[in-house]
Amino acid sequence: MEYGRICRKGKRLRRFQRKGISVLLAALGTAVILLMSVQVAMAMLDRPGSVKVSGMKADIADMALTDTQEDAETGQAESGKILAEDPLLLLVNKTHALPKDHTVDLVETGSKGIYVDKACAQALSQMLEDARAEGLDLVIASGYRSSERQQEILEEDTQDYMDDGMSYEMARQKAMEQVMPPGYSEHETGLAVDIAAAYHQQLDEEQAMTPENQWLREHCTEYGFILRYPADKEAITGITYESWHFRYVGVQHAKAMTEADQTLEEYLGETD
Ligand SMILES: [Zn+2]
Repeated sequence: MEYGRICRKGKRLRRFQRKGISVLLAALGTAVILLMSVQVAMAMLDRPGSVKVSGMKADIADMALTDTQEDAETGQAESGKILAEDPLLLLVNKTHALPKDHTVDLVETGSKGIYVDKACAQALSQMLEDARAEGLDLVIASGYRSSERQQEILEEDTQDYMDDGMSYEMARQKAMEQVMPPGYSEHETGLAVDIAAAYHQQLDEEQAMTPENQWLREHCTEYGFILRYPADKEAITGITYESWHFRYVGVQHAKAMTEADQTLEEYLGETD
């Protein structure tokens, strides 16, 4: 059964406009990286051997901590650029493609043939185990997807519409309303999973009514997961409510986001 189908909300993205924004963001990102490189190089020149990359990371961690403390007082949004240093906060959405050099360290989940990144594997299995202990039966419907697989899904859905009698152009357009193009699905990070009640494996509106899904939404942050596409945040995520799609960000970030009622986009200051 193709669970992922309903989850793959693509929607046509005013692609040309978005492309422009992406180019601008890429240019800005490059400028920031260049500036940081220059700073590191200068620091190394000043104090040979005393500045290492790990030292740099510690500085960034300190800055992030300071930021968080300030935020608690002022209620201001956190700096996305500092938070974005954490690989667990990797943002992949309609305007942020998966970085070309991104690598995943895949581990098979309890569901045969479904893989996730090692970073979230243990938390995921613990969450499902604890749910089972409460008498709830959950299955992982979808985990990591390669960009090749994402492309295949797009082609399959296009073909389905063509089989219904649509022209290729119309069929592709229709498929793109449901399926993210390769490089833009969060499933490609290996940090996102679709989870369903074992007796209701459709990823649809009724999923949210199951006690299994309710438990997940209530407890996921304790394991470092967030409900990635909440009902009241569709305008920000660009994705309609998906009660079944959870994203790993680590316990600290998951709790912070949930307490602040923020999506990953808002948390990173990357809303457009
Ligand atoms: Zn999903």
